[in-house]
Amino acid sequence: MSKEWKIPFNRPFIAGKEMEYIARAVNENRKISGDGPFTGKCQAWLEATLGAKKALLTHSCTAALEMSALLCDIKAGDEVIMPSFTFVSTASAFVLRGGVPVFVDIREDTLNMDERLVEGAVTNKTRAIVPVHYAGTPCDMDVIMDIARKKGLRVIEDAAQAHLSTHRDRYLGTIGDLGCLSFHETKNIISGEGGALLINDPEMAARAEIIWEKGTNRKLFFRGEVDKYTWVDIGSSFLPSDIVAAFLYAQLEMAETIIAARRRLFDLYMDRLGDLARQGLLRLPAIGDQGTYNGHIMYIICKSLEERAGLTRYLEERGIKAVFHYVPLHSSPMGEKWCRVHGGMAQTDAASDRLLRLPLYYEMDDEDVSQVAEAVAAFYSKVITS
Ligand SMILES: *Cc1c(COP(=O)(O)O)cnc(C)c1O
Repeated sequence: MSKEWKIPFNRPFIAGKEMEYIARAVNENRKISGDGPFTGKCQAWLEATLGAKKALLTHSCTAALEMSALLCDIKAGDEVIMPSFTFVSTASAFVLRGGVPVFVDIREDTLNMDERLVEGAVTNKTRAIVPVHYAGTPCDMDVIMDIARKKGLRVIEDAAQAHLSTHRDRYLGTIGDLGCLSFHETKNIISGEGGALLINDPEMAARAEIIWEKGTNRKLFFRGEVDKYTWVDIGSSFLPSDIVAAFLYAQLEMAETIIAARRRLFDLYMDRLGDLARQGLLRLPAIGDQGTYNGHIMYIICKSLEERAGLTRYLEERGIKAVFHYVPLHSSPMGEKWCRVHGGMAQTDAASDRLLRLPLYYEMDDEDVSQVAEAVAAFYSKVITS
């Protein structure tokens, strides 16, 4: 399906010195495997900017989640509480260890895991809670951290969509024991494929390095802390190439500009679609007042599955690509076989049927946003008069 869209859903972009840094990695540094100079720069940037105790670059957010499951010693039958309205990796990382995802419903307003349902889902098998900050909007981390402390549970933030969003005055991904970021080309800051694990509990830092390096103490060896390196723990190859890190570093340097541009486009959408929302024709994202947002996803909530299908088609006919997600994990084949549902899933099912994501990418301009908003408005004026 290689249709040329007038306004595509997403468009990967170059923000600054990506190609220059890749050339430097290849021609000057002559270090293109993992843990090279650009990996070090990216990790230092993440630690300094976000205030994470330690950051390790990974080849994806999926990898960071898998490292989290290893670090939290998830074993067969251990339960992990999370939303069903999320990407598959949130759950699959724990299922790989034999863990059992326990799904709770989401809030109607933010579409984040409903923190009021979490405590009731805890059993004597529960080991961890995985809040997913949907669309870069923060989960209620105060409530979630309180429950975790009271019950002795680990908290792993799936902050794949939430890079540079905050909850109160802290960056998302730095509040739980561990935080997972994604730099996939569909996210805000990109490197094609890419991610990072933020290790906020200092006691986990040394083991994280070992798991990252295939279960060896190679990093200690390079620092001169041991006189030979050897196999000391389980692990895998979670490092990205330094070529990828070079691309990423150029994006991180431009992060403020990129996020500001996305926020501006998001705000413009909110403004242009405001009338339709006030007329009760559709619902707009609830940003909440618990932090700052990063403009990751612009979505609308339609009245029904049928209406969403009609709107998607209407936009497609005008060269505009809009997409929906997620097939709730609890109703996927693996979810039905492997996971447990705690309570009803009414809000999850409703969002899955009715949410539509509108185009939003760095190189979009005001005119593009206006065109999309006008097309959405034109569709609804047809709905009203029919
Ligand atoms: C994108 C995404 C992931 C996976 O990120 P990758 O870097 O592609 O592995 C995980 N969780 C959520 C919520 C995501 O949006």
